[in-house]
Amino acid sequence: MDITSRMAGILRQLRQARGWSLTLAAEHTGVSKAMLGQIERGESSPTVATLWKIATGFNVPFSAFFSTQLPAAVAASGDMRAVPVFPYDETLRFDLLAVTLPAGALSESSPHEQGVIEHVVVIEGVLEMGLNGNWQQLQAGEGLRFAGDIAHAYRNLSAAPCYFHSLIHYPQR
Ligand code: MN
Repeated sequence: MDITSRMAGILRQLRQARGWSLTLAAEHTGVSKAMLGQIERGESSPTVATLWKIATGFNVPFSAFFSTQLPAAVAASGDMRAVPVFPYDETLRFDLLAVTLPAGALSESSPHEQGVIEHVVVIEGVLEMGLNGNWQQLQAGEGLRFAGDIAHAYRNLSAAPCYFHSLIHYPQR
């Protein structure tokens, strides 16, 4: 099954499990009803930013949209690509994502749920992180830890792709 059909199925299951209409799901996630419908019908593959909004709105880890078996499928579409390195574990409560940001790309993330802590470590290339609009540059080997419940953005102003790991820790419920 390709990634678009898998995401379609998972979104439908999540929505049905909560008994949410598309309208209600749109209110919880901040993603338009039209876009949610397209994703559910497998007509559109969400960007990483959209997938994060959906995960946050449904209160599930990001990797819930990927296969539970390793190696996880290919990435979500869009400029930024993210692939889970490990499947989400309920006890450890973190996602570890391998992320690629092409040269010149900017990806803006809506705030994650309160208590989410994100750790970004650059493997290759140069990454700039914007936290509440304040930008800082990270070189290969450098890391940044921040509270994920604020608006944050990732950008690559260099001419080469940037590859980094993002460890997202979810709070106890
Ligand atoms: Mn994030």
